[in-house]
Amino acid sequence: MIVDYHMHLRAPDESIEHTVEAVERFVEHAAERGIDEIGFTEHIYYFEQTRQLWSMPYHLERCAYDIEPYVNAVVEAKRLGHSVKLGIEVDYEPGREEETAEALAPYPWDYVLGSIHFLDGLGIDAEPSLVESLGAEGAWHRYYEALARAGASGLFDSLAHPDLVKMFGDEIDWDWDAVAGSLDGVAIEVSSAGLHKRHGKLYPNAALLRAARERGIPITLASDSHVPQNVGRDLDRAIEHARAAGYETVTLFDRREARQEPLG
Ligand SMILES: [Zn+2]
Ligand SMILES: [Zn+2]
Repeated sequence: MIVDYHMHLRAPDESIEHTVEAVERFVEHAAERGIDEIGFTEHIYYFEQTRQLWSMPYHLERCAYDIEPYVNAVVEAKRLGHSVKLGIEVDYEPGREEETAEALAPYPWDYVLGSIHFLDGLGIDAEPSLVESLGAEGAWHRYYEALARAGASGLFDSLAHPDLVKMFGDEIDWDWDAVAGSLDGVAIEVSSAGLHKRHGKLYPNAALLRAARERGIPITLASDSHVPQNVGRDLDRAIEHARAAGYETVTLFDRREARQEPLG
């Protein structure tokens, strides 16, 4: 089984298009790449219903779309028989767990994907970055502490690009077993998106993925595609990476229930 559980429902030019037709373009590209099931995970901050969660201009500027067409497009595509799942990529805001849960409550998610893109108003994969401000070691401490809180919050079924903090600065020898140990009860994604970033690496690194495997943490697969033509891109590399760490199964979600299927 091959799933791609991280993508943004957009038109081919990457503009927001939350329609059944847009879903069907992703479904077609997924079929061409041999992907069995895809899950949409639009950024939650695009939806005006979540405005109360945000304080940074980055989020507030984008918070302009109604969430209903997004949810309805994926639900309708499911009804038409497409192998699609309704997810959402949620920026974890430490201290705003209750408000986040309230914002998510009205909709029939198959899974909720937790992400950390900003901490203390600074970017993890955007500039000005937390690494610039605190140095790599300080930023990594802050990031992995927040990731553990995200995992323990109960808000998320899976965590996106779990070592995103390597975007800027040097990679550091780290206690990956401690990181994996802090993520009990939540899946992590093995993502090919980093192959197309400045560092050119998969998420997460091999040592973290091995530690996660030893701890029994389940995985999903992710392209983080923002256009239909990139669905499933380089997932063969992500699968190889997961196998090298000892994984033999991949997680599927249905209305927030997880199950394991053979990988590949
Ligand atoms: Zn992300
Ligand atoms: Zn994403």
